[in-house]
Amino acid sequence: MKRGPTAEGGKPRPASPGASGPREPQVAAFATAKHGSLAEPARTTQDAEPGGRLRIGGYLPASFSDYPGRLAAVIFTQGCNFRCPWCHNPGLLDPQGPELYNGEKIIGRLAARKGKIGGVVISGGEPTLQPDLLPFCRRLRDLGLAVKLDTNGSRPQVLAQALTAGVVDYIAMDLKAPWEKYQQLAGVAVDPALIRRSMEMIAASGIAHHFRTTAVADLLSPADLAAIRALVPAGSSYKVQPFRQVPPSA
Ligand code: SF4
Repeated sequence: MKRGPTAEGGKPRPASPGASGPREPQVAAFATAKHGSLAEPARTTQDAEPGGRLRIGGYLPASFSDYPGRLAAVIFTQGCNFRCPWCHNPGLLDPQGPELYNGEKIIGRLAARKGKIGGVVISGGEPTLQPDLLPFCRRLRDLGLAVKLDTNGSRPQVLAQALTAGVVDYIAMDLKAPWEKYQQLAGVAVDPALIRRSMEMIAASGIAHHFRTTAVADLLSPADLAAIRALVPAGSSYKVQPFRQVPPSA
């Protein structure tokens, strides 16, 4: 759903063991656990640190294209409950994958750049799997930074908490496929009711948002795209982004 994370200085971040690396059994186990249930990730003692801890697998210090109308830093959280066959970020799928960036240091860097950037995008992976997403967002807001959340929409209960707490300013949510093809495009069984609930909640929230679909030509026909568009609530904006093959070295 998103561009791949890049290390500071524009270089691709180090390849991490993902779906095809030595962590494959772990990934497979996670995928199985998620199948149909989209279960909660395990919370570790370390995760319980006060102040909001995110497991971060990638970081972009500045982007003009990820937060509409703002220059923003982008944080890529580690771990996803989907397995989209075309995913650009396989290194971010394993929730136990390498934590390449320390959240406290990122907060420090963002504080030092106050006034130079206008916001932070929390992308992934799937950010709503992070147990401390809300306190982390609150800390960014306390720095005076607007927060945009990118989500696959599978965890409406977390979105509801974020909206109630008022810690996000913008939400971009993926619509992967028409309902009958959702499992194929998400790579796991997905309850459409969860996606629909997220969609309706975001649309009714009054905060800036858009829905979006990555048009993977081999998997989504023009008729599929039309069917997805028909799902978008009236008054919400919708973007179709072309699928771009990422070179193996990126
Ligand atoms: S939802 Fe997860 S698996 Fe799908 S494209 Fe995004 S990061 Fe990859």
